[in-house]
Amino acid sequence: MKLLQRLSMCSLIRCFMTDAPRVRFAPSPTGYLHLGGLRTALYNKLFAISHKGSFILRIEDTDQTRKIQGSVEALIADLEWAGITCDEGPSIGGRNGPYIQSERLDIYKQNITKLLENGSAYRCFCTERRLNLLRRDAVRSYSIPKYDNRCRNLSSKETKEKITAGTPNCIRFKLTSDCQYFEDLIFGGIAYDVSINEGDPVLMKSDGFPTYHFANVVDDHLMGITHVLRGVEWQISTTKHLLIYRAFGWKPPLFGHLPLIVNADGTKLSKRQKDVKVEDYRLKGVFPLALVNYITLAGGGFDHVPGAGIMLKSMDELAQEFQINKISSHPSRLNPDLLGECNKLEIKRRLQNEIESLTLISQLQQLVKKTYPLENLNISDDHVKNVLEWATARIATLDELISIKYAFLWILPSKYNQSEINKQLLEKFVHDLESLKPYDQTHLKQCLRDFSTKNNIKFPMLMKMLRLVLSGLPEGPSVAEMMHLLGKHQSLIRIREALQ
Ligand code: GLU
Repeated sequence: MKLLQRLSMCSLIRCFMTDAPRVRFAPSPTGYLHLGGLRTALYNKLFAISHKGSFILRIEDTDQTRKIQGSVEALIADLEWAGITCDEGPSIGGRNGPYIQSERLDIYKQNITKLLENGSAYRCFCTERRLNLLRRDAVRSYSIPKYDNRCRNLSSKETKEKITAGTPNCIRFKLTSDCQYFEDLIFGGIAYDVSINEGDPVLMKSDGFPTYHFANVVDDHLMGITHVLRGVEWQISTTKHLLIYRAFGWKPPLFGHLPLIVNADGTKLSKRQKDVKVEDYRLKGVFPLALVNYITLAGGGFDHVPGAGIMLKSMDELAQEFQINKISSHPSRLNPDLLGECNKLEIKRRLQNEIESLTLISQLQQLVKKTYPLENLNISDDHVKNVLEWATARIATLDELISIKYAFLWILPSKYNQSEINKQLLEKFVHDLESLKPYDQTHLKQCLRDFSTKNNIKFPMLMKMLRLVLSGLPEGPSVAEMMHLLGKHQSLIRIREALQ
């Protein structure tokens, strides 16, 4: 049954796509881009790439009271950072613009006239006070607060008089009490009669601004949107939108609602967790492709071979694999352990690319400089590259490499307890080290062992002293590993420093 449903869904998508599909991401500028928004944008983008369609960015700022200054720019910057570029949108324009709803007020005005004229919409003069009273009465009688549709019955003469008198009014949609049905590309068949729980909804507010529902339908139609992929929180509104499409006589797009993203234990993501904002991930040193892959691991829509391990995929590879009918309708559980894994793979990938590895090296050099504002930092390109290659198995973000644990890689150790240093021994060791060839881990290990036997010093004692001299720390990577990473020259500098 499920398979049949899925198959029919595939043919539904196909039969709708004689032309290249057009999808859109339509955020409201009410704050930052969060993981859920990023997933919606990403899946729309992947859908567009995989079907050679267009991805449109539209800013839905009809609720001016909730608009946050600077959030449009931040949203665009976050999307671009994540590699989600748009084909049409506020910053690049396009033939269906403007792409910011507050700049489309004339368009809504023209279109609302059509609904007023064909009798699907009407002017409502009810005051805020009356609406509040209705709400209060409903609460008192334990019924659903909804508008009682009173102004529906005003005669055109009454309406005209009120308009002439300058009475403030909004425009409402006449809800019909029929059950709308649609095939959700992800959830399957959905049917709902909006009028059971709602009074006639407002389409245009008294200030001339459209409501979300009206602007959303008008824009999706005028922008030629063929598939609406959006968060499941909008699923309940879709049947209302279908009624509006019908009132206009427009063919609606196909709809697919993406399930909620939740924590591994099924709980809701909370803003306080510091793990919902895309910006926070960026500041934590997560790379865009790693974050994108991490989301796809939770979101479904891809072939995942169980036990095959994680493979980092490029945007094009993800797009090739992406299939809407593979998205589960269950909430998408994030597995935070996978984020580190994805970032490790991304660091490895960047290191293998000539140009990207140079950027990575310079990024780490900057980080070190910022953290340790000292002269004579050990940050030559070769050294930084060696460290990065060594670190890919150990760290998930570059930031980890500037922690105290790894400070020895960049700076000379700060003061340590001199009583633990045997200068005579160290002097001898300098001699052995200077002549060591080749300078690799195997020979270093052998050299350390030979030195401990020859000088009758217990191996652990020797290691403890050398580790202190090299890093100033009581623990860390093996001494041979540290000396190899630092290179002969830097290791000798540190040991000689201890002899001063
Ligand atoms: N403006 C809505 C939001 O902020 C978009 C809903 C839709 O995609 O239709 O999420």
